[in-house]
Amino acid sequence: ERKAALATSSGPGATSDGHKVPLLANVGGPADVSAAVEAGAEGVGLFRTEFLFLDDSQKAPSEEKQVEAYRKVLEAFPEGRVVVRVLDAGADKPLDFLTPADEPNPALGVRGLRTLLDHPEVLRTQLTALAKAAEGLPVYLEVMAPMVADRTDAKAFADACREAGLRAKFGAMVEIPSAALRARSILQEVEFLSLGTNDLAQYTFAADRQVGAVSRLQDPWQPALLDLVALSAEAAKAEGKSCGVCGEAASDPLLACVLTGLGVTSLSMGAASIPYVRATLAKYTLAQCERAAAAARAADTAHEARLAAQAVLSGE
Ligand code: PEP
Ligand code: MG
Repeated sequence: ERKAALATSSGPGATSDGHKVPLLANVGGPADVSAAVEAGAEGVGLFRTEFLFLDDSQKAPSEEKQVEAYRKVLEAFPEGRVVVRVLDAGADKPLDFLTPADEPNPALGVRGLRTLLDHPEVLRTQLTALAKAAEGLPVYLEVMAPMVADRTDAKAFADACREAGLRAKFGAMVEIPSAALRARSILQEVEFLSLGTNDLAQYTFAADRQVGAVSRLQDPWQPALLDLVALSAEAAKAEGKSCGVCGEAASDPLLACVLTGLGVTSLSMGAASIPYVRATLAKYTLAQCERAAAAARAADTAHEARLAAQAVLSGE
């Protein structure tokens, strides 16, 4: 049955009653693009740009090198959407020349956008390179910042984008509970939200994503995490803006239906998951997804949330 579903899985992501949910790919660089295109990704929902910074532990890559890499990814999706995340250094992605070595809690220290605001030249070069890479291409470029905590962060990022002359939509990742709680305030500064559920789970449950002993709390079915997703999606809807998910949560086909029911407007995942998510989403109406989402949120544990969603979707 799974095979049959996959064989018929193609085209844009949508529920059975035609509610569109673009299915996008998470990529780490040009090497991942062909798999994304083959899986029928409607664009890139998370381009993790860290890979470019791994070659040299002493300095950032040159603007030219960055332009070349960004252009390769942008060219693969003519007329499509490409969401580029600016450098997310620190914590689980440390870089020698940027990440403070002496922090007691790196995940709570200078990482993500905080690093870039401390090193504005690194951000400026990256934004300028993105502007140049997109020049003359029909692609629909969106640029987002990791680890946005509040409106001040969102404004600082949007200002930097404008100063670099970037003609793109600017967005904020929701990875910190404060950002979900005050999503409407953040949306006064940026045009879209993207939920990074891996970090959002880490910070909601005070459970380090790199520590196996607390992995129970990293489960994206945790009802508290679903509540924060719902808050963010509702805020975006109220502001007439979009709110995608680009964390691991989006790659679980059943959870993808629940996220859709919570009001998430696009799902980005590793290319290999796209056909499964597409086939599953196509089996249910938006109303069914909404009922599954409500049932999952009413549960007390991640396990019960999954069972409750499954029961709704299988018509029990
Ligand atoms: C996330 O935190 O969910 C996310 C998409 O970003 P990363 O996994 O790269 O931190
Ligand atoms: Mg993250």
